[in-house]
Amino acid sequence: ADAAMYAAKRAGGSSYAFFEAHMNAGVREQIALQRELRLALERGELALHYQPKVSAGRQRMTGVEALVRWQHPTRGLLGPAVFIPVAERFGLISAVGHWVIEQACRQIASWQRQDLHLRVAVNLSVHQLRQEDFVRRVAATIAREGIDAAQLTFEITESVAMEDAEGTLKAFEALSDIGVQLSIDDFGTGYSSLSYLRQLQVGELKIDRSFVQDLESSADARAIVEAVIRLAHALGLQVVAEGVETAAQQDVLTRLQCDDLQGYLFAKPMPAEHVAAWAEDTRRREAGAAQAVELSV
Ligand code: C2E
Ligand code: MG
Ligand code: MG
Ligand code: MG
Repeated sequence: ADAAMYAAKRAGGSSYAFFEAHMNAGVREQIALQRELRLALERGELALHYQPKVSAGRQRMTGVEALVRWQHPTRGLLGPAVFIPVAERFGLISAVGHWVIEQACRQIASWQRQDLHLRVAVNLSVHQLRQEDFVRRVAATIAREGIDAAQLTFEITESVAMEDAEGTLKAFEALSDIGVQLSIDDFGTGYSSLSYLRQLQVGELKIDRSFVQDLESSADARAIVEAVIRLAHALGLQVVAEGVETAAQQDVLTRLQCDDLQGYLFAKPMPAEHVAAWAEDTRRREAGAAQAVELSV
């Protein structure tokens, strides 16, 4: 391959073609995808779906998390795991991330007009946090949409927060100053120290799905979840469990005093226009359940 590369280099202009021909299929697919992603932004093929969080006790909706989707013209609905890494790798994450924040803020304003006062959480990539003018742009978007900054939460994974502790600390301080809420996502998979956690201006920890999944089968997972909830509460933080799929998991988490739950057991991510109906259904069911309890006593 070295000899071939040398020959290609000597041939000058054809060296790029040579590399392209020999790139593995994965890389070639990523390059095609990033080209399409640039167009997708212009063509409006990205969409946000929203997954409710509910309070553990009364199963009231406490907010939603925005999760980005791509309605690809030929490949169907793509999840973020397919294209967020591509966006990160090819310098598109800033554009995609900004679109997500604008869209989420617009949605908060739109729900507000329907008298639905919802908190919306948006996931951030590390590259966004490192951007020089990130906080200023967020503040401008919030002002333009006329929403309350406290209705917007940013979720950053624990591993991202640890990767660049100093930078994260600074960015969180600035974000906290403009009034947005902060949350550590996938908690338990990174290695944050207690002193670092205490310094970060976060209001919430989200327990990673892997621990929730193992709750029923593993005493270790149970012990970890219990410890995380105690720790969070000792620091004055809210705790959310992600990926709750079974009633048994819900029971354990409720008993351990987890504040909020999120997962397929309650709702999958859905288009914005379904959220109001879902909230209303849940409210009615809860009222019905409360009435049933009253009647039985
Ligand atoms: P995350 O923030 O930890 O989001 C939770 C993921 O788990 C979502 O997948 C959600 O659909 C899925 N999920 C929720 N409940 C359950 C459940 O009960 N069981 C199972 N098996 N899965 C559940 P999704 O939407 O594919 O997103 C994956 C990841 O992509 C997110 O993980 C987040 O890190 C990232 N992501 C999503 N939207 C954005 C975005 O706008 N910007 C950035 N930078 N990253 C995003
Ligand atoms: Mg998240
Ligand atoms: Mg998560
Ligand atoms: Mg996760």
